[in-house]
Amino acid sequence: MVAPMQTELVQTGRVKGGAVRQMLLWLEKEFDEARLSNLRRALEGHGHEDLNADLPAFGILSSRWYSASLFRAFCDELIRKLTRQEAQRLAKTAGNAALERSLGMFHRMLLRRIASPELHRRFAQRLWNAHFDTGRVDVELPAPGRSIVRYRQWTSHHRFMCDMCTASDIVIYGAMGLRDVEVKQLSCIDDGDDDCAHLVTWRI
Ligand SMILES: [Zn+2]
Repeated sequence: MVAPMQTELVQTGRVKGGAVRQMLLWLEKEFDEARLSNLRRALEGHGHEDLNADLPAFGILSSRWYSASLFRAFCDELIRKLTRQEAQRLAKTAGNAALERSLGMFHRMLLRRIASPELHRRFAQRLWNAHFDTGRVDVELPAPGRSIVRYRQWTSHHRFMCDMCTASDIVIYGAMGLRDVEVKQLSCIDDGDDDCAHLVTWRI
């Protein structure tokens, strides 16, 4: 199914290896051999010949940019046999495990000391640009205890990654020291909406 889709892909843009690497390091402990080798096969043939099955995370490097097509194949394979609910659960578990791994003690302390939803609004685009080279992020703060995060013009979009980004705000807002953080998806371009948005709520 992946191969025929590649010729029709209109997706452009690149994705930084960091999140994929962290997620793979987690999956290597969670998935069995068969599932891992399917993932490895999905990553092959996208113009990144230096991937190596013998290295942790198949040699995906945190600091390197990878094509949207490689990334899409990776996400497609991850959710291939899952229902929508199972895929959402995996995005939350794997995505947040990856983020927890990459969010070191220092950054966590820093987030707790200085970060707030207002600062998140100010720096959300910069945070985004560390992972994707296309896409605009807007954060609205419509009421105390609520923020709406909206992604537009995200050409390397994949529903699984969209779910992961949505779930990541549970970790990010939680690391600010906010309590009872929850997220709820409001729209997604894969559902025919104009953008992808989610609501973040926390106890005030
Ligand atoms: Zn989306």
